[in-house]
Amino acid sequence: MTEREACPSGFVAKCRCGVYVAAVDILRAPEVDARTMLGRWLWDGLTVEPRFGSWLEKIDACQCGKSRQLRSRRPRPERGAEHGRRELQAMSDTTDEIVRAAVHWWESHRPLSFTLYEHLEHYAVNTCSEPEKNLARAVANAVRISLDANVPEGERP
Ligand SMILES: [Zn+2]
Repeated sequence: MTEREACPSGFVAKCRCGVYVAAVDILRAPEVDARTMLGRWLWDGLTVEPRFGSWLEKIDACQCGKSRQLRSRRPRPERGAEHGRRELQAMSDTTDEIVRAAVHWWESHRPLSFTLYEHLEHYAVNTCSEPEKNLARAVANAVRISLDANVPEGERP
């Protein structure tokens, strides 16, 4: 058995209704994305199964609606100033969470030999797809703005 055959070549996610609703081919997708995806699947209550060698799984729409419900479990905004404020706070918390996750994702692509500033200059290093490069650019811009606001001019390289 070769090393490649011993490790999973992909993962599929099954909803509690028994339908495979998602799949990832880790030989083609970058590993860091697959790990994030696996975590989200488990968080959504899906059953994750490894696949070895070459595999083909039919991916379908969930039959029970549980996967969809789990994904949009946040309550709809309610009327009234108090509810409005709470909704705004929830939105801002969610945005912070997204930014933190995006920065973490970007940092995980930084070569060990790179400083933060080198990474800002070559922000798309180790990314493959166009969406990844776009996300890397957006994160780099946000990090630059935050550095400009928090690090005095004299302390920047
Ligand atoms: Zn389902």
